[in-house]
Amino acid sequence: MIDIPNLDMFIVQTCNLSCAGCQTFSDSKLVKGVTRYNNDYLEFWSSKIQPAYINMFGGEPLLNPDLEMWLDGCRQYWPDSNLVIQTNGLRLSEEHLSWIDTYNVSFNISQHMPEYGSKVWNFINQALATGKFQPWTNENGPVQNGYGEQRGWINSDECHIQLTESFNETVWWSFYKNTAEESKPNYNYFSNDFHSSWNVCGCRTFVNMFEGNLYKCPAVAGLLINGDSLGLNEKNTWKDWFNNYKRLNLYSQDVIIDEWFNEQKGPQSCCNMCAHKLDMGAQTVVNSKVKL
Ligand code: SF4
Ligand code: SF4
Repeated sequence: MIDIPNLDMFIVQTCNLSCAGCQTFSDSKLVKGVTRYNNDYLEFWSSKIQPAYINMFGGEPLLNPDLEMWLDGCRQYWPDSNLVIQTNGLRLSEEHLSWIDTYNVSFNISQHMPEYGSKVWNFINQALATGKFQPWTNENGPVQNGYGEQRGWINSDECHIQLTESFNETVWWSFYKNTAEESKPNYNYFSNDFHSSWNVCGCRTFVNMFEGNLYKCPAVAGLLINGDSLGLNEKNTWKDWFNNYKRLNLYSQDVIIDEWFNEQKGPQSCCNMCAHKLDMGAQTVVNSKVKL
């Protein structure tokens, strides 16, 4: 069994927001699709990998009509993993609150616009009104925003609710330049300094599963899965990623799985899509296009 820190379940390609520069290219209306529940994926991979965290991921996972089945399946096949829903918060409701106790699931909320703050806070206040949540202090200290306001809460089962007000952030990590059809990698696929991108990457431990196949990280998965709808596979700037990156297929043999994970743990040529450092000016302009 291979221990991994994070497994992202890429179960929705589309999103109800459009944040230019989106890590998975889900901001474009051309990108569509939900992945219906499939037991076979979980049955196979639960005999091979043990993730510490399993994140319901997209796009916006609350748009998947089978989200509860995915939670139920992951809880059964990986009873010891921490389950998390990574959501923009726009569709959070009381029904989702009940899942915390049923599936021991946590919520990471990235609020990308101030306009729907009341929806997010309704959900948080309903959770707090149960009396089951306390302010969360993790290994980094109290989970607060830059103004000392509490933004994380935890219950006795170690399920948390964390709110990140992304719309307040002045930087947006540059996984690639521009957005959607206009996107470009930061460097050539065969540049030899890809270690520099990987060295500063906060996503490098997040293996991504889409339709039962595994990808290095959310950025690479987003490019290879959603890039076709945007015509990126036809573009000279991106075609080396489509032609050279090797995902790990469902039902691969153990020797192939071991090799793939050994490579996944380190820098790879595909990391040339990402910047070597925060590119503040350019990405702030791109991110200002966030819209409903
Ligand atoms: S809410 Fe998240 S998934 Fe949706 S477009 Fe914005 S960054 Fe992408
Ligand atoms: S391609 Fe490499 S540097 Fe970019 S997000 Fe993925 S792991 Fe990080």
